[in-house]
Amino acid sequence: MSENTENVRCLIIGSGPAGYTAAIYAARADLKPVIYLGMQPGGQLTITTEVENYPGYPEGIKGPEMMEDFRKQAERFGTDVRFGVVIAVDFSKRPFKVEADDGKTLFAETVIVATGASAKWLGLESEKHFMGMGVSGCATCDGFFYRGQDVAIVGGGDTAAEEATYLSKLCKKVYMIHRRNELRASKAMQHKVFKTPNIEMIWEHAPVEVLGDSTGVTGVRVKNVNTGETRDLKVTGFFVAIGHEPNTQIFKGQLELHGAGYILTVPGTTRTSVEGVFAAGDVQDHYYRQAVTAAGTGCMAAIEAERFLSS
Ligand code: NAP
Repeated sequence: MSENTENVRCLIIGSGPAGYTAAIYAARADLKPVIYLGMQPGGQLTITTEVENYPGYPEGIKGPEMMEDFRKQAERFGTDVRFGVVIAVDFSKRPFKVEADDGKTLFAETVIVATGASAKWLGLESEKHFMGMGVSGCATCDGFFYRGQDVAIVGGGDTAAEEATYLSKLCKKVYMIHRRNELRASKAMQHKVFKTPNIEMIWEHAPVEVLGDSTGVTGVRVKNVNTGETRDLKVTGFFVAIGHEPNTQIFKGQLELHGAGYILTVPGTTRTSVEGVFAAGDVQDHYYRQAVTAAGTGCMAAIEAERFLSS
């Protein structure tokens, strides 16, 4: 075996709460896990400011700091943590062949996929500039910081509708900006939105610029998609809820995915369509998408991998 080829018992791909929790459990079960951190080490939480809903942190904790703690805990039990991105997998036979961008080819007896999902963004320069300073991709995570203030949310699907309703309970006013004149969200969610007095629909408009200064966001400029006319909404928070994309590019054709591209798992387990490959966290969950649920499934995946190896 060349120095660029390795055998591993348990390979974990991705380093959000799911990947690191899988690593903690796998390391403690003596599976000697190797974890590839991926494109965004620490995952989506590293672009969140404060995490206040993860049990065990009564005062809350900064997202990046929390992920540092996860990493240290995984390392403490001997996880081999590697900066690098997995670029190709072959799950057609065991051991599974996995190639990483550090030039390594790994042959893994089990694989835990925890590559997460990425929030879709509008792609505006100003959106990037004010990320974490008033621009957020998660109302459940960040809504609390805008209590009593005016905010805007863009999107017309179930997530936007749900998050607008959530924000309406905390904020003075919620502008819901949608590019069409009807919502994509389910009828039940639409009813909720329409009967909430402090949600104002801004139909047929698209955000063209996030406005702000050194203190953060001060408004959003929106453009009427029919007339091209612009107007400014005075808000301190701007939430983007235009969907998520699971990071499953390299698993297409290898694992069964469902319509929206998420990995299919056997209900109540983290087992995928390939025996010995498990999926945990947002990559297989478009519904809950919380750090704590991701961590829970990471734990399940490691336990299932361990039982698979000893069976
Ligand atoms: P989604 O259904 O894909 O909706 C995305 C929304 O964002 C659409 O209204 C879309 O507009 C808009 N959008 C997309 N790109 C945009 C852009 N560049 N600029 C402006 N607007 C843009 O995504 P989702 O709401 O995250 O839902 C994902 C899936 O999870 C869905 O199947 C949903 O039903 C499900 N979900 C369910 C629940 C629940 O049951 N409680 C909660 C959340 C999510 P258009 O409508 O014009 O395309």
